Amino acid sequence: MCQSCHVRALSTYRTAERNCRDTGEGAAGLTTHAPQASHTVTLPASLDEAVAALTAMPAAVPVAGGTDLMAAVNAGLLRPAGLVGLGRISEIRGWQYLDGHALLGAGLTLARMGRPDFAALIPGLAAAARAAGPPQIRNAGTLGGNIVTSAPTGDTLPVLAALEATLVIAGPEGSRREIPVSHLLTGREMLQPGELVGFVRVPLLHAPQTFLKATGRTGPGRATASVALVLDPARRNVRCAVGAVAAMPLRPLEAEQWVASLIDWDGERGLVPEALAAFGDYVAAACIPDPAPPQDGSEPAALPPAALHLRRTVAALARRALGRALS
Ligand SMILES: Cc1cc2nc3c(=O)[nH]c(=O)nc-3n(C[C@H](O)[C@H](O)[C@H](O)COP(=O)(O)OP(=O)(O)OC[C@H]3O[C@@H](n4cnc5c(N)ncnc54)[C@H](O)[C@@H]3O)c2cc1C
Repeated sequence: MCQSCHVRALSTYRTAERNCRDTGEGAAGLTTHAPQASHTVTLPASLDEAVAALTAMPAAVPVAGGTDLMAAVNAGLLRPAGLVGLGRISEIRGWQYLDGHALLGAGLTLARMGRPDFAALIPGLAAAARAAGPPQIRNAGTLGGNIVTSAPTGDTLPVLAALEATLVIAGPEGSRREIPVSHLLTGREMLQPGELVGFVRVPLLHAPQTFLKATGRTGPGRATASVALVLDPARRNVRCAVGAVAAMPLRPLEAEQWVASLIDWDGERGLVPEALAAFGDYVAAACIPDPAPPQDGSEPAALPPAALHLRRTVAALARRALGRALS
């Protein structure tokens, strides 16, 4: 095995070039699927150094916990010419408070986000982090990786959509720009070459938030459907996002507005079971709509059984999520 390919800590920022072809030892240190690949591994100590490394090596890719990236490498889907490891960048591994917001580092692990102190701050995101995969995945996987992978089953994504979080993106020469997380998830705005997600800005709502997930199995598993729901008493808003049923989280805006209008924001905030059930159905029908009626005026096709089942699952999750938030 080529020991020279292993990622090593560098005391200061510098590039460690390890060309396995030159040594004739192969590249087994990174993946068994690319034995002839040449690997450049860089371990910067700051966000700006990481951006500089990516700018200098356009073919390199950033890697945080590696849970998604290495799965793609091992599946033969990706052959990165170089890696820029983000694991040593301490500035993105924690969070800070800023004007009623929390600025979360992209390098926060899912395990860290699941802890009680984080849950007291942003309970919906903590619940999603706790539900994401088995412990070894949560120990390594990061918030930034979950966002950039943008998998439909990414558990933090519906919560970030419901919170209307924004991303602070670090670019060349110390530049920073901020975009709504939904812009990245919908492909409306993309990361440019050399850019990294540095932080996630999340409003601190000081109100109940819930995240519920259905999986096709017992124990940790990818979501078949998930619902994030947050109350925003200051704006008298209910915000809801449904995950895993489409390529990106879906916001049932009409259902949100309808249910917010039913809530006595200055009083008990409770809703009768019929209203909770109606909200669940409203959300589910918005996210998994009936097939469009045919142009020729014939009977519309029925929703396939699998879609019907998914719709019922979403309805149940949304009803329970709202019930818990209001209880
Ligand atoms: C067995 C298994 C089970 C899983 N179960 C779940 C689950 O239940 N729920 C769930 O949500 N996820 C699950 N995942 C997916 C995965 O763990 C998460 O998506 C994780 O959060 C990814 O983070 P990472 O740090 O490992 O990302 P990496 O693999 O390091 O990176 C992923 C992608 O993001 C890019 N990237 C990483 N950080 C940044 C950054 N700061 N700026 C720009 N680009 C960046 C990388 O270049 C790469 O393209 C599972 C994965 C596995 C292997």
